[in-house]
Amino acid sequence: MRSEKEESCGERNVPLSVPCLQGNEWRYIKECLDTNWVSSAGEYVNRFERMVADYTGARYTVAVVNGTAALHVALLTAGVKPDDEVLVSALSFIAPANAIRYAGAWPVFIDADPDYGQIRPDLVRGFIERECVNKNEGLYNRHSGRRVAAIMPVHILGHPVDVDSLIETVRAYNLRIIEDAAESIGARYKGRCAGALGDIGCFSFNGNKIITAGGGGMVVTNDEQWAKRARYLTTQAKDDDVEFAHNEIGFNYRLTNIQAAMGCAQMEQLDAFISKKREIARRYTEAFQEVPGITAFAEAAWARSTFWLYTIRVDAACFGMDSRTLMRHLSSSGIQSRPLWQPLHLTKAHQGSQYLGTGTAEQLQRLSLSLPCSPGLTREQQERVIDCIRRACR
Ligand SMILES: *Cc1c(COP(=O)(O)O)cnc(C)c1O
Repeated sequence: MRSEKEESCGERNVPLSVPCLQGNEWRYIKECLDTNWVSSAGEYVNRFERMVADYTGARYTVAVVNGTAALHVALLTAGVKPDDEVLVSALSFIAPANAIRYAGAWPVFIDADPDYGQIRPDLVRGFIERECVNKNEGLYNRHSGRRVAAIMPVHILGHPVDVDSLIETVRAYNLRIIEDAAESIGARYKGRCAGALGDIGCFSFNGNKIITAGGGGMVVTNDEQWAKRARYLTTQAKDDDVEFAHNEIGFNYRLTNIQAAMGCAQMEQLDAFISKKREIARRYTEAFQEVPGITAFAEAAWARSTFWLYTIRVDAACFGMDSRTLMRHLSSSGIQSRPLWQPLHLTKAHQGSQYLGTGTAEQLQRLSLSLPCSPGLTREQQERVIDCIRRACR
């Protein structure tokens, strides 16, 4: 087993971001098999929930089958109703916008700031003050006539959004704050954990995230009633365990014990992975100071980023090649890199949705490239990536 793994580490190909499974994963999963606790209940599910609660400081945690399910349940728990609107980051993986549609609500996309790529609180304020009317029962969008129920900031790339500014902006209007921290477990905002800063938060443990359970998600909140509601909805809304009575339509969104076992083993390593990733980020940033036309996404003064995906911006005129050409160039050397997501208001899936912004998300998408940054990335591999970029510069 070990020698195979070592061999694959020595391969020429450098992947963007792959899991690092060198802890207690085998041992904990084997224990599930040995004890016959393999499905959607078991001690590892409870333990995983406790570990995430302890780590993030959230009082209650509900493990679910993936991050998208976590977002869906969080929206329902927060009281988002069909035909409501939810403000959401324009520059993000598509999951949060899809989850808003699963709840029957509509996304209103907010542009990114140019420095960190996160949702812009000033645009949210402008939208509320200029484009909404505040009636007794809530905030209404003048343009669509719909109720604006919540905001779903997405902490992208392992860096937190400016949460205090958002809270200050939306509190007076009673908007719920549902954090999508799928990419940012362990990221800190003024010392506190992303995902545990708003009314309810969501994490993902998909294979491409900083830690993985194979697949998995978590809903976190400090509100006991909300936690109960979330758990109820994820377990088919069962009202009587013996008679199988159900008063509502729920979902089967539970995480299995096997996945939770892997999640526990990964949680044990989260801080080590973050240190590793921050070290990788530091080395890249240092190296790129001497490469004209390459700039890294900055880390805000109030932030401690995990650098889940280390991302650069390529100024084609200065560097001599645009981001996509550089991507192909890296690829021909066996180095995987990836652009950011198509801004969500430009996707066909969400066409016709309202968008507030000045095109920064599009610009960042055009310029940006995420570079290899697995916790297991070796110095030698990283040097190859840096060399390849240095040599591509004219
Ligand atoms: C990965 C991701 C999700 C979805 O998580 P899954 O576990 O893959 O369902 C949600 N939001 C963002 C921003 C993500 O990057």
